[in-house]
Amino acid sequence: MLYSRIVETYTKIEATTKRLEITRLLVELIDATPRSIIDKVVYLTQGKLYPDFLGIELGVAEKLLFRALTRVTGQAESKAATLYKKLGDLGTVAEQLLKDRTQVSFQRKAPTVEEVYNVFDTIAHEVGQGSIDSKVRHLTTLLGKASPTEAKYITRMALGRLRLGVADMTLLDALAISLGGGKESRLTLERAYNRSSDLGYVARTLATGGMKAIESLKVTVGRPIRPMLAERLSEAKAILEKMNGECAAEYKYDGLRIQAHVSSNGTTLFSRRLENITDQFPDVQQLLKENLEGIAIILEGEAVPVDPATGELLPFQLISQRRGRKYDLEKTIQDIPVAFFPFDLLYADTIDYTDRPYLERRERLRKLIPKNERLDLSQQKICNDPEQLDDFMQEAVADGCEGLMIKSIGRDSTYKAGARGWTWIKYKRDYKSEMQDSVDLAVVGAFAGKGRRGGTYGALLLAAYDKRNDLFRTVCKCGSGFTDEDLDKLPKLLEKYSVDHRHSRLDSKIEADVWFVAGLVLEIVGAEITLSPIHTCGMNSIRPGAGLAVRFPRFTGKYREDKSAEDSTTTDEIVEMYRAQLKKVTENTTVEAA
Ligand code: AMP
Repeated sequence: MLYSRIVETYTKIEATTKRLEITRLLVELIDATPRSIIDKVVYLTQGKLYPDFLGIELGVAEKLLFRALTRVTGQAESKAATLYKKLGDLGTVAEQLLKDRTQVSFQRKAPTVEEVYNVFDTIAHEVGQGSIDSKVRHLTTLLGKASPTEAKYITRMALGRLRLGVADMTLLDALAISLGGGKESRLTLERAYNRSSDLGYVARTLATGGMKAIESLKVTVGRPIRPMLAERLSEAKAILEKMNGECAAEYKYDGLRIQAHVSSNGTTLFSRRLENITDQFPDVQQLLKENLEGIAIILEGEAVPVDPATGELLPFQLISQRRGRKYDLEKTIQDIPVAFFPFDLLYADTIDYTDRPYLERRERLRKLIPKNERLDLSQQKICNDPEQLDDFMQEAVADGCEGLMIKSIGRDSTYKAGARGWTWIKYKRDYKSEMQDSVDLAVVGAFAGKGRRGGTYGALLLAAYDKRNDLFRTVCKCGSGFTDEDLDKLPKLLEKYSVDHRHSRLDSKIEADVWFVAGLVLEIVGAEITLSPIHTCGMNSIRPGAGLAVRFPRFTGKYREDKSAEDSTTTDEIVEMYRAQLKKVTENTTVEAA
């Protein structure tokens, strides 16, 4: 299949914001794709070459693309640089340069999808001496065969910035319609995706083995499972009602979630975002190796920094020092060791435990995990009384935890990969009348700073995630809580998310100076949630024409790098928080009046 066929779809996708239309365009593309390359077409459309968990990134440096474009088009690098300044997107620059090119190859042989994919694949694996020249050579040859529009997408893809805004769920819809026999198979496909975290693999399995192969797709050691997520509630009584009167309450440790895959081939650790973080936690790897050797197993737990002298749990932030610090990792491990608290079992004894109820998973986990200084099952208690829950909450907080994770023990208590549901509920210590609890919001825009903040951002536009519509909706503009160090690093941190227009998955009535694809997630606290005419979060859910906003928002200093944008606090949660707040105010007023 010619790469131009894919590009035709991309161009149309970029011209619309309607999800149904995007789905239709993808269905047409999948229909036209030979089955043998379906996975490649899916990965390319996601702007990648492999599933994220393999950590193989394309990310060619801009200067290499400048070099390749100059060679292909015979135009001066200075012209490319000027155009880039004006247009802000190297893809559009490539398109323009190719249109204006002085050297035109008359033997242009339009590239195929395989060819484009293979060139990218070669580039992604090239390292060491001579790799830069080789990458430029490969790009030059490929761009030399491309049309201006193809060059636009090849350039964006090479930079790791395709950003079509096609959500995984939309691709699943399209796969269901095109190859799965209809929309009804979408849920089964989603389940397969949640258990493999790999859309290309799902597409390939579907194309070769049909829905039968999808239905029998099992979890595999080494392939991360998308994590189950929790809803939140602020009162013990309401929580118990949701849990039909009885539940398991576990300490909610304030650390880093790790999904560990252990087998005779070694141990792999995945973050909540399914990045491979094995190298950052050789101590956790060692702990599991020593204690679980010989068993193929997938489990989840929380790694929490501990004081080596007292064994007390320390703040989560200390763990982030491990990230990106390759060289003094050994020292950090000595100074701030971690303890690991497994809380769920997903696979063991060749059995897929995700389909088993909570109590069975827990019991098997209990038998597997020996207790020692650095490894212990999460603290847990079965509760059926609100007071009992609150007492256990006090214990958890006294032991340095954030609160409790409440888990259903009913028949519905299977491990729901990739889903947020009421079988897990967060119950944090600071859910009070005021909004003392934090929210995790995605950065979707920024406003230029003035005065002391010249050259950086004065405030950020933040959004919550509307899961039902797969959109981000703004909830506040936040300029407080940032240290000078934060302000310095924000433009760099946000650079890779920058787009030159409001993104199609963002609902905003506010015009920002700079726009971003939702990617970076920050923890924010505020005074309360208020009704707002300008923010779009929860629009019309409380009052017609009004959305909800966080009042007096402040950055807590926590970059939630462990969360993807879709893991941000949801718009439904913000609506729920507003309602809880309202209820509390009403109750307090009634007490005062009495
Ligand atoms: P949050 O990050 O506030 O959305 O809360 C959910 C997170 O709590 C999970 O992703 C885990 O990292 C963490 N957590 C801590 N203790 C537990 C536990 N016992 N069970 C499940 N999750 C836990």
